[in-house]
Formats: sequence, structure tokens, C-alpha cells
Amino acid sequence: MKGKTGLMSELMSVQRKRLVLLGGMSLALGAAISGQAALLAEAVERIFVQRASFSSVVVIFGVLLAVIAARTLLSYGNGRIGLQMAASAKTEMRAAVLRKLANASVPSALLGQTGGKVSVALDAVDEADSYFSQYMPRMMEAAIIPILILAVVFTQHTNSGWIMLVTAPFIPIFMVLVGLKTKNKSEEKFAQLAEFSGTFLDSLQGLVSLKLFGRAHRQQQEIERSSLGYRDATMGILRIAFTNTFMLESIVMLSIGMVALELALQLLVFKSLSFHTAFLILLLVPEYYSLLKNTGTAFHNGRTSMGAVSKVEEMLAETREERAIMDSREGAGKTDVTDEGDRMDKADKHGTADSGLFRMPPSIELRNIRFRYAPDSFELAVGSLSFRPGEQIAIVGKSGSGKTTLLHLIAGLLKPLSGEVLVNGRPLAQYDEASWFDRISYITQHPYIFAGTFADNIVIGADRDVSRADIVQAAEAAGLAAVAAELDKGYDTFVGEGGRGLSGGEKQRLALARAFLKRPNVILFDEPTVGLDLQTERVLQRSIADLASKATMITVAHRLYTIRHADRILFMDNGVLLDCGSHEELLVRLPQYAEMVDVGRKGGFA
Ligand code: ADP
Repeated sequence: MKGKTGLMSELMSVQRKRLVLLGGMSLALGAAISGQAALLAEAVERIFVQRASFSSVVVIFGVLLAVIAARTLLSYGNGRIGLQMAASAKTEMRAAVLRKLANASVPSALLGQTGGKVSVALDAVDEADSYFSQYMPRMMEAAIIPILILAVVFTQHTNSGWIMLVTAPFIPIFMVLVGLKTKNKSEEKFAQLAEFSGTFLDSLQGLVSLKLFGRAHRQQQEIERSSLGYRDATMGILRIAFTNTFMLESIVMLSIGMVALELALQLLVFKSLSFHTAFLILLLVPEYYSLLKNTGTAFHNGRTSMGAVSKVEEMLAETREERAIMDSREGAGKTDVTDEGDRMDKADKHGTADSGLFRMPPSIELRNIRFRYAPDSFELAVGSLSFRPGEQIAIVGKSGSGKTTLLHLIAGLLKPLSGEVLVNGRPLAQYDEASWFDRISYITQHPYIFAGTFADNIVIGADRDVSRADIVQAAEAAGLAAVAAELDKGYDTFVGEGGRGLSGGEKQRLALARAFLKRPNVILFDEPTVGLDLQTERVLQRSIADLASKATMITVAHRLYTIRHADRILFMDNGVLLDCGSHEELLVRLPQYAEMVDVGRKGGFA
């Protein structure tokens, strides 16, 4: 068996008590098996050889029954412990996986990793089940009981003991050979499953586009190809498993035959053995091999599970690396912390800094920020910039110029390659992530609407108990009153997955309503590009101005209204900040800006 992985030994150390219990029960089970054989041999000897009366064997039968009952209970108990171990190990692993996803999913999601990974990780946790529920109990039994049986046989008849001892290693040797092959296959299976899940999810998400571009058929073939690949990988494992079982059975039959032959010779030809002893050994031999054989099956399951566990482990290791990188960045940041930063660190220990920090809109400073999604790809480098508390900033520029990327960096959703974001003079990385997200609202163009009622979806923005009146007020401020009125059950209508869909504009206003309930001190806003009716537009303009009055607001702006009313405008071009200033300043200074405004006006810029 290959050495246990780190995650495995971590999981095992939690289970130590159960493992000891498993060992004790296996020992008792071994005693019960030997006892059962001895009692049965004794009963048969008395009845058929000594022709003893029924009353003289009644006691033996009574004890035999009790031993059989004990054996059944012990077997059941071992199974139970295995299941408990599996349950707690799975809970542990799932929690670890989910923790990882919760910690790192935002950046990973932005860096383009799909849902494939998530589903594979959680499936892998399920596959790990048999390691604990089957493999561990069987392995423990196999390690203890055969030795016990062997000891009994040796005391009765040495020749049989030797045959059993010599034939036994063939089973584990064989198992290891096949097991190693299964492990490779199982890893292959996971790769296939990951590919299959990925293709499937991507196709589902992009179904509309695929249809529009007439690519649905090709994608269907793609899904078919990867599902066939997955099937072949599974069949490959099954083929190995079946061959494995057949070979094991053959070895076991051959070995039992050898012991039986030797016993028969001793009993009938050489007459050097009593019937009782021969019968006892004959009863014990199949038990002995069947235990070793079970180990074979358990070993096969164990290998599959190990493949799964190492997948989970790889995923967790990635997090640790990410965290180590983040920690080292934070560590590096801490060396040049200002006095204020030091004070905050101290205050932090009392748990006050993060929560008290944003009662007022904070100042935000970008220091030599550089960012790349991948080596040799689009690079963002905006140099140094600072936003005053409560300042209204508009980011403008052509599509693909890096506006959203900059917003993600400010939000802390992406980590800069070099440089840092400072909030109230302190590096963003030093704040507790949850407290930071508590104080900001990021209103994207595609906010997530989860399955729940319309009201639930608004409340998600609030960090306190809110009344229905608060919800309605927030919805009105976000221009959603008319939408709510049209819904079948008003605010109690189910929306999101499986419920009523919302249009792009409605979704974004829902995100705004969330912000109204939250009253953040920093608002990051990816302004809608979809046109709204004049009335809604007015309501929104007023509400956003109200929200912005108590916050530092950074908007990726598409509307002339927003741009003109911003304190400062950042003009982005191909990842670089071309200029920064007020509307009037830029009109004079920056021809590209004047051109953009001009084109915008002609194109019906609102
Ligand atoms: P804008 O918001 O100005 O339209 P973005 O910030 O969205 O621009 O994108 C800037 C550049 O970064 C584009 O070239 C885009 O292709 C690239 N980009 C955006 N998101 C990703 C991503 N998740 N992975 C790789 N490249 C990306």
C-alpha cells in the first residue's frame, strides 16, 4: 500500500479512537469465528462420530448459537464504525472543500474556472466514502483475524498451517498489482468526469448563444464524445475489477483444495489426524481465505477512493498555496505600515478597527497597481491615484480597456500582481475580508438572483433585521415598485432558478435595492448599458445620488449624465489610465474624451 496522503493522515488522526475500537472488535470477531468452528466441529464429532445423546450436545448448541449471535453483532458493529468514520470524514472533507470555495471562489471564478471543478470536488468526497466504510474495517479485519485463525490451525495441525501461510501472500501480491492499475484508471476516470462536467455546464450556460450561432449540433457531438470517454473510463475500471475477482476466486479455490487434499491424506491414508481436528481446520480455511479475498475487493474500492481523496487534496493544496502567497503579500505589506496602520492593527486585536472604520466614506488609494489575468495577456497598469472620502468617480473608456478589471481590483475581488489598494491609508489585504465586503456594495451588470422570493432577494443585502416596510422602501428607491406590483404574489413571488425570471434591467435594480438596504460606504457600480424608460431613469438618478451622498462611489459609467456629474473621470485606454479630471477639464485636454462625448451624444447618450 502506498503511503497515506497528508489529508488522509489528518482525517485518520481524528478517527484514532474509532480505529482502536475497530481493532478491538476485529480481535473479538476473530475469536468468535474460531470459537464457532471449534464448537461446530465438537458438535459434529459428538453426534456423528461418538453417537452421543442429544442432551449432551444441547449445551454446545446453546453456546454455538450465542457465539454466532456475537459474531453477527460484531460484524455489524464493525460496519457501523466504518460508516461513522466515513460520515465524519466526509463532513470534514466537504467542510474543507466548501471553505476553500468560499475563500477563493471569487478570484478563481474571475480567472475563468468553471463549475466543473466544484462538482468534481464534491463527487470526489462521495467517492471517498468507501475508503472509510469498507476499506478500513475490512483491512483491520484482514490484519487481525487471519493471524488468529492461522495461530489456531498451527496449534492443531502444522502442515495445514504451512500451506495456508505459503499461499496467503499470493492474494495481497496480486491485489497490489491490480490495485495500482486501478488507481491509474481511477485518476483517468476523474479527469474524464471533470472534462465531461465542464463541457456539459459550459454548454448549458451557453445554450442560447450556441443555438443562435447554429453550433448546438456540434456541441451535442462534443458532449457525446466526452460522455463516451467517461463511460469507457468507468468500463475500464469495471473490467479490471471483474478480472481481479475471477483471479482471486481461482487462487482461493486452489488453496482450499490443497489444504483439503492434505487433510484427506492425513485422515484417510496415514490415519494420523482425528476427525475433529480435520473438520475444525476445514471449517476455518474458507473463513481465512474469504477474509483475504474480501480484502481484495475492499482494496479495489480503497484504491478508487484514494484517487478521489488525492483529487480533493490537490484542490485544498491549491488553496494553501494561494493563502501562503496572500499571507506573504500581507506580511510584506505590513513592513511598511504607517502609524495609522499600526494603530489599526492594535485596534484590530480588540475587534474594533474593521467594524468602526467605515462609519464614514473612506478614502481609497491605488499605489502602482499592475495586474494580468495570465502571462502575456492583457495588462492593466494605472499607476497611483487617490480618491477622497465621498468622492464620485466615473471610469470611462472603450470596451475591453480594463474598466471592469480596475473595479474588481478596487473591490478586492482580484489581487494586484504588484502594488496595492489602500483604504483609509491601510492596505486592503490587511482588512478582514468579511468586514470589507460588509461595507461595500458592488452593483454589477449581472447580479446573482438566487432561488427565493423577491423580498428575500432584496434582504440579502442587509446585515440587520429589516421590516417589510424597509424592503418596500428599498425597492421603490431602486425603481422596482412597478415590477413588484406586476408580480403574481408581489414581494412573495419566487424568482431566480425555477421561479420567475427577471430581465437584465430588473436584476440590476434588484442589486440597487440590496444596496439601499445595506447603506454601504463604498459603492462600486457597473452602470447599466440597457436603456430604461424616462420615469424609471429619473427615479434611479435621484436614488443613486442619495446613496452616493454617504459613500465613496466608483462607477464604470456609460451615461453622459453620470459622467458629467462625477467629481472626477478616469479615462482608460488599453489597460492604461490616459487621463483623470473633471468633465470640463477632460473636454479641453483630452481629444479622445471630447470625441467620445461627441459620439455618445450623436448615438443618443442619455
Ligand atoms: P472593460 O470593462 O473596459 O470592457 P475588462 O476589464 O472587462 O474591460 O477587460 C479588459 C481585458 O481583460 C479584456 O481584453 C478582456 O478580454 C480581458 N479579461 C477580462 N476578464 C478576463 C478573465 N476573467 N480572464 C482573462 N482575461 C480577461
